[in-house]
Amino acid sequence: MKLNNLTVIILTIFILFSCQSEKEKQCNHKKPVNKPVKGKVDYRNLNKLNTKLSKPVMGEWLFSQKESGQSFKRYINSTHICPDSLNNVIYLNLIGEFDDVDMVVLQRLKEYVEIFFRLKVVMREPVSDDIIPEKSRRFNQGNEQLHTTYILQNILKHNFPKDALVNMAITSSDLYPRDSWNFVFGQASLRGRVGVSSIFRYKHHYLDSVNCSKYMNRILKTTTHEIMHMLSVKHCKDYRCLMNGSISLLEADKKPSWLCAECLAKLIWCTQTDVIERYDDLIRFSEENNYPDKAEFYKKSKEIMTFMYPQHRHNE
Ligand SMILES: [Zn+2]
Ligand SMILES: [Zn+2]
Repeated sequence: MKLNNLTVIILTIFILFSCQSEKEKQCNHKKPVNKPVKGKVDYRNLNKLNTKLSKPVMGEWLFSQKESGQSFKRYINSTHICPDSLNNVIYLNLIGEFDDVDMVVLQRLKEYVEIFFRLKVVMREPVSDDIIPEKSRRFNQGNEQLHTTYILQNILKHNFPKDALVNMAITSSDLYPRDSWNFVFGQASLRGRVGVSSIFRYKHHYLDSVNCSKYMNRILKTTTHEIMHMLSVKHCKDYRCLMNGSISLLEADKKPSWLCAECLAKLIWCTQTDVIERYDDLIRFSEENNYPDKAEFYKKSKEIMTFMYPQHRHNE
């Protein structure tokens, strides 16, 4: 598909890597890194807080992209990447130039990713994008862009830390996945444990308190969306959800920060974490960073879960 003529192209694509070592690592999922969730929890009750997606219209991701969807059952029965006793750290590698505001936002991102996945996160000091050779760069519409394949294969795969669950890069420059595409916001592998996203298109020329909050929210959403892909979670096509695909910044901005019930169930099953403690941390983070709509959503979600499963809370 030739996409050069589109004004805005924001596509997140997946690449499927397979190698023996990945398959071996997946077998170690028997040893969860977090404590298991007690009892059988039916997350579908949370869907009363979520909005069903309506029929897609032109300009929306699902209008132009065929998505197979992925039920919880299909997810747990498929090959997936999840933390275990050997690989349980999320690495975030900063590539390019980041100013003081960026660094404050990125420190909050680190905290948020820790809360969202309830796993240890290591954020590395920024390195210059000189590590990307000329042949993997180009100029497009006045902006220099970096080739995602080089970052995924030659940087992240080749420097994969021993204890990493996933190894992700965040770039200050724009990205492109192949010559025929204008750009991508991010790209992640469903099996290869690597992913990359860019902050380039999120920033306004002048940051004030309102658009800085929006800027940070976009980075929080894209990063967690890509890491969910790295845990083998596909796009969601049923509810308004963090795992919806987006073809434009407008569509990406409409997407919520939270997961629908089905996608949340995948995350909790994969990370074997405590859903109530996760809500407590998300409420605190949302209040501290002035995201009242998120705090409200998580408070209501926590109420539903606590009401349905009081033993889940009190037996611990
Ligand atoms: Zn995606
Ligand atoms: Zn979903």
